[in-house]
Amino acid sequence: MDFNLTEDQLAFREAARAFAEKSMAPHAARWDDEHVFPKDVLKEAGEMGFMGMYTPEALGGMGLSRLDTSVIVEELAAACPSTAAFITIHNMATWMVASFASDDLKQEIVPKLASGEWLASYCLTEPGAGSDAASLRTKAVRDGDSYVINGSKVFISGAGSTDILVLMARTGDPDSGSKGISPFVTPADADGISYGKNEEKMGWHSQPTRMVSLENVRIPASNRVGNEGDGFAIAMKGLDGGRLNIATCSLGGAQAALLRARNYMHEREQFGKPLAAFQALQFKLADMATSLVAARQMVRLGAFKLDSGDPEATLHCAMAKRFATDACFDVVNDALQLHGGYGYIREYPLERYLRDLRVHQILEGTNEIMRLIVARRLLDDGVAEAIQ
Ligand SMILES: Cc1cc2nc3c(=O)[nH]c(=O)nc-3n(C[C@H](O)[C@H](O)[C@H](O)COP(=O)(O)OP(=O)(O)OC[C@H]3O[C@@H](n4cnc5c(N)ncnc54)[C@H](O)[C@@H]3O)c2cc1C
Repeated sequence: MDFNLTEDQLAFREAARAFAEKSMAPHAARWDDEHVFPKDVLKEAGEMGFMGMYTPEALGGMGLSRLDTSVIVEELAAACPSTAAFITIHNMATWMVASFASDDLKQEIVPKLASGEWLASYCLTEPGAGSDAASLRTKAVRDGDSYVINGSKVFISGAGSTDILVLMARTGDPDSGSKGISPFVTPADADGISYGKNEEKMGWHSQPTRMVSLENVRIPASNRVGNEGDGFAIAMKGLDGGRLNIATCSLGGAQAALLRARNYMHEREQFGKPLAAFQALQFKLADMATSLVAARQMVRLGAFKLDSGDPEATLHCAMAKRFATDACFDVVNDALQLHGGYGYIREYPLERYLRDLRVHQILEGTNEIMRLIVARRLLDDGVAEAIQ
């Protein structure tokens, strides 16, 4: 693995940084404060190609690798982790349709998603099925050329403000587990769909989170993505990349917080010296930077494994997500501590980064579930080489 970014990757990083500094960073505090979902900026992000980063060029995407994508997302997240995270969820849903839908459905939907004209939500979690997603109960029953869907989804990012739901429903028997699930592209305004209130959250205020209820929602059978019963495998494939994306959003937030802490250590004086003169704080900063670089390397290794079709990619994506989201949360918390009382005040962005990054330890599979994935794989026979 080459540790140097390529010329192209450096150019993507430059373009993403310029976009984030101009169109995201100046507004992020207001989006957080006023709970604004910045659809105009998402549209601009689409014009930059950021709404279909790893979607094939033939379908209007940028056709980038996961490593390229991570380089871009880190810059967006440094400006606003919450908005960057929505962009990544949209990218994941778009990739799933682009990779597994019929040709007609792909042609109809994906270019609009990749350009940012339409926004997508990913609907897996249910009131009774969170970590145990394979136990989901939303049902899709075939009726001639249609499916009729009934059930409910919770915690759906963007819901109520998106155009398309990529929704997992049970097409098999109630006890068919992970083998009886299929994904569907569902128009967000289809008859029978209703949305709950925008959940009041600790962070991620620049994107709505709502419950979605489905009552006799009829959609064409051709809106099914992949074969009947393949849905859980498709959902998990999407989440390998989704986990790297969320981990990358943590990297961006931690990088921004660390740089602010570094600058503050030069500016702030106590006991007649800048904070930077205190060795205890120098060591804190050194540990923060070390954790951040280790986390970034794990994310890039996971991306490399996914890009190269490595059979252990799932293991590495889970390890990277667990490590990076934990390590980066700690980096932001330490950056807040280094700001003293000012770190706790909303005028400084540290508390926003902390609130935004906290949820990365919970969603796209909690960090306990990441440990479960890693431990299960390691306890299999003959997989010592998986972590070499
Ligand atoms: C802001 C936000 C946005 C979200 N966006 C989306 C979205 O767009 N689409 C979507 O589908 N979902 C979304 N989610 C849902 C998210 O993925 C789930 O919340 C998450 O998977 C955990 O499920 P749960 O909340 O039901 O917790 P539970 O599964 O009930 O877990 C509760 C606790 O038990 C632990 N636990 C559970 N099982 C085990 C086990 N076997 N071993 C050890 N520990 C275990 C968990 O780690 C957790 O700590 C979002 C959630 C939030 C908060």
